[in-house]
Amino acid sequence: MKQGSINQNVQKENNISVVLRALRADAECTRIRLTGATGLTQPAITKIIGQLIEWGTVSELEGVGNGIGRKAARLHLNAQRYRVAAVRINRTYINAAVYDMAGRLYDMDSREISSEEGAEPTMERLIGMLSRLIARAEVPVLSIGVAVPGPYNYFAGRISLMSGFPGWSDIDIRAELEAAFGLPVFVDQDANCGALAEMWHSGYEGNSDMLFICADRGIGAGLILESSVYRGRDGFAGEFGHASINIFGPRCECGNRGCLELYGSTVALENLYRQEAFNPMEPDSLPENTAAGEILALVREGDVAARRAYSKTVSYLCFGVVGMINTFNPATVVFADKITEGGNLFLQVADRTFREYLMPEIYDRLQVRVCTLEGDPMLMGASVLAYDQMLQAPSVYFRGEEG
Ligand SMILES: [Zn+2]
Repeated sequence: MKQGSINQNVQKENNISVVLRALRADAECTRIRLTGATGLTQPAITKIIGQLIEWGTVSELEGVGNGIGRKAARLHLNAQRYRVAAVRINRTYINAAVYDMAGRLYDMDSREISSEEGAEPTMERLIGMLSRLIARAEVPVLSIGVAVPGPYNYFAGRISLMSGFPGWSDIDIRAELEAAFGLPVFVDQDANCGALAEMWHSGYEGNSDMLFICADRGIGAGLILESSVYRGRDGFAGEFGHASINIFGPRCECGNRGCLELYGSTVALENLYRQEAFNPMEPDSLPENTAAGEILALVREGDVAARRAYSKTVSYLCFGVVGMINTFNPATVVFADKITEGGNLFLQVADRTFREYLMPEIYDRLQVRVCTLEGDPMLMGASVLAYDQMLQAPSVYFRGEEG
């Protein structure tokens, strides 16, 4: 009896979530259209919409006419009623923002950080940034989504290793933010967040089996399998930046040898560029450490040494992705983050590498593209994560004052 009512409650929550998702995707929705989009019965839709209107989450607007008979009322998701905060922690910067329920950016702040500052003071700075953003959000901020570099232990709630920035593994990011703001906090690996943003904004069609590759100073993959993020038991799925592509390679911070990150990241690009730009006949030509951003600008300008270093780095990265493609047989591979900023050359090299190393049957049907979401897709994805997690229990989060 008790079990039955729990199950009924779960089903009820699920149905509300399905309706909220459909409303988010269709701004001109009617009850009839919702029936089609969700597969729920008309009485069920009527009941749920009544509930959502009572909560203030949905409004009814004047009808949509089809020229015949009574106009069906248009339903509108009150996306401005609540907001979510989103954070992206990276090795060199933190981005924090506030988004509305439709995924529109409302406010944002960004700070450069460095490992010399240490993880704990950086965390304090982050809390300061978020406090200011939440204070000026005008409407209630319901939850916080956080994108962090992997390997991230989803179930322990801690970053396991942030190469080049020690100290983070000692910080329970979720607990600290929950204590500071009294809001539910959801943390996930940055590539998973990017994949969520890509699915939300580019549609679920064609993205139901997707690899979302995020490469800057570290490399990670978000795995979308059958339209859901696949995390594995502890959240380490997609950690292929620490898969070795050279068993004789140099030792990596993770303890393994020859990790892909040592060859296909922007750190590798900086090292390779130094070698490519060096002319042994002119020992003075050894450049100072050039930052990845400057090298990528040189790539776009056509600089020969920069383009050579970039081509090598991108082909190593894609060579690493080949193993993932063979393992998961995705329909689409989407690349994102700093490594993609070298202009057209990125997709040229990716295509060449995939043609060379994939079986023709796999290569022919594979879609490869660069993420085109504006701004920081991983930050945007952190807001999608927060929103999606709240959709697990809509009557807890969206009931408002009426509850
Ligand atoms: Zn490694």
